[in-house]
Amino acid sequence: MTLTRSRPHLPLLAPPRTLFAALVLAAHACLPHAAQAQDYPAKPVRLVVPFAAGGTTDIVARVIANGAAAALGQPMIVDNKGGGGGAIGTLEVARQRPDGYTLGMATVSTTASAPAINKKIGYDPLTDFTPIINIAATPNVVAVHPSFPARDYKAFLQALKNNPGKYSFATAGNASIGHMQMELFKSLTDTFMTHIPYRGSGPALNDAVAGQVPIVFDNLPSALPFIKSGQLVAIVVAAPQRLAQLPGVATFKEVGLEAVNRMAYYGVVGPKGLPRPVVDKVAAAIKRTAELPEVKKRIEDTGSLLVLNTPDEFAAQMRAELAVYQKVVETQKLTLD
Ligand code: GLU
Repeated sequence: MTLTRSRPHLPLLAPPRTLFAALVLAAHACLPHAAQAQDYPAKPVRLVVPFAAGGTTDIVARVIANGAAAALGQPMIVDNKGGGGGAIGTLEVARQRPDGYTLGMATVSTTASAPAINKKIGYDPLTDFTPIINIAATPNVVAVHPSFPARDYKAFLQALKNNPGKYSFATAGNASIGHMQMELFKSLTDTFMTHIPYRGSGPALNDAVAGQVPIVFDNLPSALPFIKSGQLVAIVVAAPQRLAQLPGVATFKEVGLEAVNRMAYYGVVGPKGLPRPVVDKVAAAIKRTAELPEVKKRIEDTGSLLVLNTPDEFAAQMRAELAVYQKVVETQKLTLD
């Protein structure tokens, strides 16, 4: 079979007049872009949360979106698109026009743990997005239903050792930070539990509180109210030191598992190619909002630390965190199956 060229006479080099027309067209295409960036935002901004309502991503997004609306002069509308460990909503952000009207929450799951292990995730966290700002870092916590036969880490580990495969754990989704850190935990402690993925921490917590799943790995802001009310019991936390909110709970570092002692983060990104004036406007609005005393208190009361860094610093952070999880996958030989 021979291949035929559909347009055999197409010249390799465009003649000067065509080239000139193309340049004029390209210049026109750029102009509205620049003008749009100056007028931004001229309509509501959608903020995609790639996890279900009730999780930490949702909590941080809603606190910020409410305040940022005043700073931006337009509503910021939170749109929950959970599923696939955050990949579904994150892919949706990557596919939008870079005009600033669709932004997305970027977490350690969507930018580091999931891309490190899932080769088919469909996006590159380092090249398919425009980093804007990292809002907050949060501790993580492993908690159990009160019917679980342990109140501290030692008894928890013993229960797992005595009953290999008996217990399951809930997380925000496949390849989420919770999934990855628990797999790392299993491999370092030589224990076995079954993973139950959800569309986000909200539904994972609901089932843990209802006793459907005995163990949950979550980020502190969403889990803390259930721990405070006694509906869940905190076993161990991932944080640089013991938390003021849970002074009796050991850190992973204290129990000899420093590799599992990593925080989560919650930032905002746009699709690749977001104009710098838009990035700067959104970053300034978020920073101003997060620094309002009542917003700062609301975020810090959940055990989170405000980060509020620059787009370049956030990009560097994502690169570093991805490398950490890639190394975990490699050294522990973790797979998604
Ligand atoms: N655990 C996820 C993360 O830190 C967030 C889960 C959620 O917000 O539901 O990336």
